[in-house]
Amino acid sequence: MLRVDILTLFPDYFRGPLDHGTLSRAVQGGRLTIVVHNLRNWAEGKHRVTDDYTFGGGTGMVMKPEPFFRAVADLRTAEAHVILLSPSGRLLDQPAAKDLAGQGHLILLCGRYEGVDERVAAYLADDEISIGSYVVSGGELPALVVLDATTRHVPGVLGGGSIAVSEESFATGLLEYPHYTRPASYQGMHVPEVLLSGNHQQIEKWRRQQSLLRTRRCRPDLLLDADLSEADRSFLDSEAHCEVPAHCEATD
Ligand code: SAM
Repeated sequence: MLRVDILTLFPDYFRGPLDHGTLSRAVQGGRLTIVVHNLRNWAEGKHRVTDDYTFGGGTGMVMKPEPFFRAVADLRTAEAHVILLSPSGRLLDQPAAKDLAGQGHLILLCGRYEGVDERVAAYLADDEISIGSYVVSGGELPALVVLDATTRHVPGVLGGGSIAVSEESFATGLLEYPHYTRPASYQGMHVPEVLLSGNHQQIEKWRRQQSLLRTRRCRPDLLLDADLSEADRSFLDSEAHCEVPAHCEATD
């Protein structure tokens, strides 16, 4: 069971995404509790101001520290792990998501504008997480990405109809093999014969090899840390001249 509190200036932002698919099923199944809070509830004064000008000059507003400190003081539990969504954070990856799923209670802090007063990162948050090396307009989308990626690792969330999280891309250090469904032949494009053969041993072998080739083509960096067998290595050596699709070329 995972509890997630989200602090945001835009609670309505979460309405659609939380009402569908894995997240909604996880809540209904009692595996996940999500509470979205309006940060303004912890702001002071008639106008409940949550941002102010940046010290030292410059354009754009900065989110004030006090509402975050007050809100976290109210919501924190003994097992809480407080995360500030930030482009400066450590990059979210599959091991990080798995680790967060074991925390029990996450409090996600969403920034806006130029960002959040640095004292929140320095003295309040236990962790800073980035969803990638680019800037989006607020912490709400990153919070949803963290929430979704993490929830998939909560035991019992991915039901029998879904592929096990342990078989998905990154779980084994490789990208996943390709999937196909009916029709077996469409406008001259054919599903690989082996998948129609019913030979499960051959299918497993083909999937492993496709996984290796796809990883080398699209994310060769992953191969450096992947747990490869002798058979994997000699297969890759034997397939040294595979084609690189255009969308994978830029990846080192
Ligand atoms: N001025 C900041 C900078 O250059 O690093 C960007 C601020 S951004 C417009 C506003 C908020 O969006 C941030 O405080 C953060 O909460 C969120 N955000 C933007 N990009 C993010 C990313 N890649 N990962 C996580 N959070 C992000």
